[in-house]
Amino acid sequence: MTASEIRKAFLDFFVSKGHIIVPSAPIVVKNDPTLMFTNAGMNQFKDIFLGEAPAKAPRVADTQRCLRVSGKHNDLEEVGVDTYHHTMFEMLGNWSFGNYFKKDAIAWSWELLTEVYKLPKDRLYVTYFEGDQKEGLEKDTETYDLWKQFVDESHILAGNKKDNFWEMGETGPCGSCSEIHFDSRPDSERAEVDGATLVNADHDQVIEIWNNVFMQFNRVKDGSLHQLPAKHVDTGMGFERLVRVLQGKTSNYDTDVFLPLIDFIAQKSGKKYNSAAKPGDEDWAAAVAMRVLADHVRAVSFTIADGQLPASNKAGYVIRRILRRAVRYSYQTLGFKEPFFYQLVPLLAEQFKGVFNELYSQKDFVQKVVLEEETAFLRTLSAGIQKFTEVLNVSADNVIGGQAAFELSDTFGFPIDLTELMAREKGWTVDTTGFEAALQEQKTRSRAATAIDTGDWVVIKDDESVEFTGYDETETVAHIVKYRKVSAKGKDQYQIVLDKTPFYAESGGQVGDKGELVFPDGEIIDVTDTKKENGLIVHFTDKIPANPADALTAIVDTQRRHSIESNHTATHLMHAAMKQVLGTHVNQKGSLVNNEYLRFDFSHFTKVTDEEIAKIESIVNEKIRENIALKEERSVLYAEAIQTGVTALFGEKYGEYVRVITFDDNFSKELCGGTHVKATGQIAYFKIIAESAVAAGVRRIEAITGAAADAYINQQSQLLNQVKELLKNPKDIAKSIESLLEENAKLKKEIEKSILEKSSGLKDELAKKAQEINGVNFIAERVELPNADAIKNLAYNLKDIVPNLYLVLAAEINGKPNITVMIADNLVKEKGLHAGNIVKELAKEVKGGGGGQPFFATAGGSDASGLNNALEKAKNFIS
Ligand code: ATP
Ligand code: MG
Repeated sequence: MTASEIRKAFLDFFVSKGHIIVPSAPIVVKNDPTLMFTNAGMNQFKDIFLGEAPAKAPRVADTQRCLRVSGKHNDLEEVGVDTYHHTMFEMLGNWSFGNYFKKDAIAWSWELLTEVYKLPKDRLYVTYFEGDQKEGLEKDTETYDLWKQFVDESHILAGNKKDNFWEMGETGPCGSCSEIHFDSRPDSERAEVDGATLVNADHDQVIEIWNNVFMQFNRVKDGSLHQLPAKHVDTGMGFERLVRVLQGKTSNYDTDVFLPLIDFIAQKSGKKYNSAAKPGDEDWAAAVAMRVLADHVRAVSFTIADGQLPASNKAGYVIRRILRRAVRYSYQTLGFKEPFFYQLVPLLAEQFKGVFNELYSQKDFVQKVVLEEETAFLRTLSAGIQKFTEVLNVSADNVIGGQAAFELSDTFGFPIDLTELMAREKGWTVDTTGFEAALQEQKTRSRAATAIDTGDWVVIKDDESVEFTGYDETETVAHIVKYRKVSAKGKDQYQIVLDKTPFYAESGGQVGDKGELVFPDGEIIDVTDTKKENGLIVHFTDKIPANPADALTAIVDTQRRHSIESNHTATHLMHAAMKQVLGTHVNQKGSLVNNEYLRFDFSHFTKVTDEEIAKIESIVNEKIRENIALKEERSVLYAEAIQTGVTALFGEKYGEYVRVITFDDNFSKELCGGTHVKATGQIAYFKIIAESAVAAGVRRIEAITGAAADAYINQQSQLLNQVKELLKNPKDIAKSIESLLEENAKLKKEIEKSILEKSSGLKDELAKKAQEINGVNFIAERVELPNADAIKNLAYNLKDIVPNLYLVLAAEINGKPNITVMIADNLVKEKGLHAGNIVKELAKEVKGGGGGQPFFATAGGSDASGLNNALEKAKNFIS
């Protein structure tokens, strides 16, 4: 079976068992503060497990793109070194939301593996949870008994909490699990060593392929386990591992999932890929490097396609680090001194066509971003190599200090193993203990800076679902469902969840609402921000009401909301106008809509010209004048909406039903959860105020609307009036400024000429003052020249006419001391005089510093009163 047949067989099988197939969620997680990237198929269903959102169907299945490079599940260091852990991988999964449980899950997984895929039963092992006393969890005998129907007892193994109690993160849904492992060793080896002893023992031929998790608990902040409202099944099967096993291979990289990439890398690097290479073998390093490249391009490409650009912090930094890890292998081990990694992107995009189309439809953009990052990092690498050489010059004992190694890694992005490798080549070592200490210290520092302590929820009122009323009203009577305390940077805040709320929670670029919670006893609590967390709408406040169980009125700051809505609708109009003016390749890559302005990042490869900006503005303003009424459809089938040509965003998770926002059926139609003006006329006016580049292939436009646009235009016209007045109200302002500039340039030239004349005059005067001391013509004088260039010019001129010259010039330029030293070339050689060293000494007199070459050097300082002392001192160097 090919990889795509294997994927299809999985999905078809679960459809036959009454499951509906759902799309993969994006790899970048937006609404969960405990998670940066999707690390398991269940993430997108977290709020269903927690009982915070209803399930859309009781049984679903999918293939989910996952990334395990940070947080609780981090496999990065294994990737490439072993043959079955990836950064990005597909997790095939089937789910029951309070529907079937252990019995069906176990029976179906066995049926699929042994009857559909026809895996040999004697190579399969299954596990069950042995229980845990400390947690008060019992042995999972139910699972054991269920397996006994299909599997020989010698192949049913007990597992501990680490392997058989699955948890998403530090907190969140969890439960006991049952894994299925496959032994792909040759029969001879199997006869010698019992496979059962190799399960969960990091053996690369006895690997876990599938995990059936029986979700039953929620782990909360204090570490305790709470029963979930219902019991669920959550399974995850590593697609690449399954393919490997079904294709009879001993490495994931030998399957058709990876071979096209590996072959391309091998061919371009001129090195052979040896899948069987072992550590210590000559071709081991290259094999690891090729696997790293083939793997990492998937993580990097899919995160970029899902909207996360490489950056210097958070999720963007994780991506940048993965990319750099790949580029380092490409540079160092495979010998690519020019960008190469980016060339893998189109190959990968082609491969995932029809599976995850996000990549294919943006492949040029993704490739451009990767190329830019790669080029920048290669530059960093060469700067790092230079720094490395400097470190060698100042270190003692052939040891690179821990601090230096840390600086190489922190500032130059130079990984520690690269430093070690390069050190080894020179017969040096690295103080790795010192390095670890420095690293640890930095980690502690940054953790302290960002540590957030989130308390557990205090439940006031049991309520299943939370209702958002803010599309229809800005004032709602509601009750507190629960609240909790959150402390960060020594500041306490509270988060409150209401059963009903008109407050819009930050999402889709639109900022959260602010406003008030008004209580019957007169207490008013300010809401400072509103954010989403999984399915919840969380209101941020500085305190908790005295009577939290009372009914309250939640009131949104409507003036602020109105400005936000103007900017949001304007963003839609602008997006549509941009597609008309710039082309349909324009895709949203990020947006911010607040009450002051709107910011819109989009894929586009060149600067947006002034004419294009004017055109976009004029289209948007025309649509504003048309006063088009908002058409809001709250619940349209996603598939239907897409057919009518709505604008959907990459990296956004859409459900089966979506909200469609239309302003003129033939103009702007977007999937959007935000709030909008009732008719475009309310925006009043639209003005673009900035256009810039944010990253490779991504431009940014900032714009304002309504009162802000009005104020901006007023300010601009005032400025213009000021200019007119200064110019004495000319008829043609531009022309008048032009002639001013011309005149200015002419004057500048004349001044330069007169300075030159002055310095030539000085030249002869100074030459006469030369004093012969020990065969040196010594001149030390104060001069009055307006800039350093003129002084330099004078010094060079003197050198031409005075042999054996040792010249020191002191000047005050705009109140600052300046010292210039010039020494004839022959004196530098014969007498060992060094202008750079001399000027450094002299600069001490003016409280400054400087330096330069042996024959010419300059210095500046802060105390001009010392200039005469400096001139006095100059003679000491030759007498
Ligand atoms: P392992 O112990 O092999 O790291 P795991 O216990 O971390 O696996 P789960 O969290 O149970 O794995 O994930 C479910 C399935 O996803 C696993 O059975 C495996 O097939 C697959 N899987 C997990 N991590 C990776 C990875 N880094 N690369 C590829 N597949 C993976
Ligand atoms: Mg793991």
